[in-house]
Parts: sequence; C-alpha cells; structure tokens
Amino acid sequence: MIEQITMYTIRCDRCEITAFQDQEDTAWDSKEAAWELAENQGWEKINERHYCPGCYEIDEEDELVVKAGVRIYFEHKAK
Ligand SMILES: [Zn+2]
Repeated sequence: MIEQITMYTIRCDRCEITAFQDQEDTAWDSKEAAWELAENQGWEKINERHYCPGCYEIDEEDELVVKAGVRIYFEHKAK
C-alpha cells in the first residue's frame, strides 16, 4: 500500500531556509515536534512567525527583533 502522509518542517519567514535541510530527518509528523527541534537549534518565534538563527538579533532592550531585509522592506512598502 502506498499512503500519503503529512509531515511538518519549519521554514524561516525571512530568508525561507528550512530548519532541517542538511540533516538526516528533514520533517516531523507533528508541528509541535518540528518546532521543538527547531527551537533547540536556535530558532525563535516572533509575532507568530518563525525565524532561523541568522534572521533575528537581540536589541538594546533584550528584545528579539527580526533583522531588516528584503521581505521586511517589501512589507513596509506595501502599506
Ligand atoms: Zn532566516
């Protein structure tokens, strides 16, 4: 029997890389498991979006902020 199943991975909302692309397991059977693994690798959730370690920084007030970039620029431009 061939069965289609749904698996989850985490993709950065800024640079669009996926969390597990170079690893043995690239997807997980629950969103929670995928996120937990990503978080262990330094990913962060900011305003319900998900960012890889390269796409956020900590500002002077110890707040996590998304680095400026193409996507952010686009969103500002669209307003
Ligand atoms: Zn990223």
